Amino acid sequence: MDLAGRFPGYVVLVLQGTRAGVVLKRLRKRRRQSKVTNAMERSRPVHILLVEDSPTDAGLAMEAFKDSKLLNNLAHVEDGTDAIAYLRRERQYSDAPRPDLVLLDLNLPTKGGREVLKEIKSDPELKDIPVVVLTTSDDDQDILKSYELHANCYITKPVDFEKFVQIVRHIQDFWFSVVTLPTGRK
Ligand SMILES: [Mg+2]
Repeated sequence: MDLAGRFPGYVVLVLQGTRAGVVLKRLRKRRRQSKVTNAMERSRPVHILLVEDSPTDAGLAMEAFKDSKLLNNLAHVEDGTDAIAYLRRERQYSDAPRPDLVLLDLNLPTKGGREVLKEIKSDPELKDIPVVVLTTSDDDQDILKSYELHANCYITKPVDFEKFVQIVRHIQDFWFSVVTLPTGRK
């Protein structure tokens, strides 16, 4: 049995730190070297709300978005309570823009992702905002429940950081280059 098989938790922990660092470095280098073409050139800026409590995943997602020059329009909150406050423009979020897309982790502190999803999709003011569930869980019940709560799509985060960055790029390509989004509300 290899090392990963014998000490799965430990190996994952060690790899997380170094592998994420390597991927981040490569992303930054690639951006410095090449002039990034922006497939997302559009007439109005797009706003994304990233709801993610893992600093590693949030960092990687933000780096991936940086490549498409979307980062200035990306807001990051780390728990469910802040996600709802942001969307309802409460507390320090009174000037928050309305997101065009929410990337939602399911396992969150203070208020779980399912509860956040339920609140978004039952609020007439918010329910038309597409919500992409982006989570480590591949549990059938989580997937089913998320769609029942009207998630617009469900994506299981790959364990591999490079693949995770690729997935984030696919998300932005699809939602901001292919899909027509609702624009009626401010
Ligand atoms: Mg989480």
